[in-house]
Amino acid sequence: MLKERVLTGDRVTGKLHLGHYVGSLKNRVMLQDQYETFVLLADVQALTTHFLKPELIRSHLREITLDYLAAGIKPESTTIFIQSMIPEIAELTVLFSMFVTVNVLRHNPTIKSESRNSGLDDMYYGFLGYPVSQAADITICKATIIPVGEDQLPHLELTRKIVRRFNELYKPILVEPKALISDMPRLVGTDGKAKMSKSLGNAIDLDSSAEEISHQIRKAVTDPARIHKHDPGHPDICPIYAYHCAFRPEGSSEIRENCKKGTIGCGDCKELITRSIEELLEPMQERRAYYKARSSLVEDILISGTERARTVAQSTMNEVREAMSLHYFD
Ligand code: SF4
Repeated sequence: MLKERVLTGDRVTGKLHLGHYVGSLKNRVMLQDQYETFVLLADVQALTTHFLKPELIRSHLREITLDYLAAGIKPESTTIFIQSMIPEIAELTVLFSMFVTVNVLRHNPTIKSESRNSGLDDMYYGFLGYPVSQAADITICKATIIPVGEDQLPHLELTRKIVRRFNELYKPILVEPKALISDMPRLVGTDGKAKMSKSLGNAIDLDSSAEEISHQIRKAVTDPARIHKHDPGHPDICPIYAYHCAFRPEGSSEIRENCKKGTIGCGDCKELITRSIEELLEPMQERRAYYKARSSLVEDILISGTERARTVAQSTMNEVREAMSLHYFD
């Protein structure tokens, strides 16, 4: 029986960190054995906010690919491909944009909040339309399952609407994808205030050295009510406790109890989690070093993944053009 197809991916805006690992990478590593998995390196989508420094995207793309392979994405089971090298995605985006209104895009809650956070003075056409491009990414691969966080649900709902509209208007050839909602809570940054993010300086990269991990954990905020070691603490507001739950779940209830009773110091608590994060990242970093030393192997993985995805995209576009009467010669 044919496996269902999953599409996931990342905007190519920088190396991946523990927040990416908890929020998506760990799940992708599991999904690749269960489904046919495609992973998109969204370099065009990265340009919607990073168009002033396109040269950086090139190096980010290599780093993210290394992060994938380091985390356990297997190129023999997962198709890793580059968005800009599939011109059919751009073509399908243009065709979809004929029947998506500007109002629908402007009222998308994720677009509104991302636009505010990006600090751009005005909303660019490409940025406003990126959910349409995402719909093209998904439908061109005929992906049926899309792992998403709650914040991405409005985008997926738009994709589903576009598919229904296309199928009604022309021919029922496109597949309506389903959401696979992640049950992992978003990993808080070391500042305890926001999600983990490279640009906020509160992230621990997957390729961090032992010194860098230790430095980031040492400077992480804790419960401000704990002035002295024996002060009772509130683990629920402490990012270090969130890390214990994510990376050392077997010991997290003991940490919770001891923090509340004031029987563990923050220094010792941080030591324990530093060691657990180091243990988690060590095998990943060994795999990363293996692939980093073999750049032509990584290039081959990207080329063959992109070729495989392009074959699927070309076949979908042939159907789309035929459905829309955009074929003129036999
Ligand atoms: Fe946070 Fe641990 Fe300190 Fe409690 S003991 S406040 S969980 S670092």
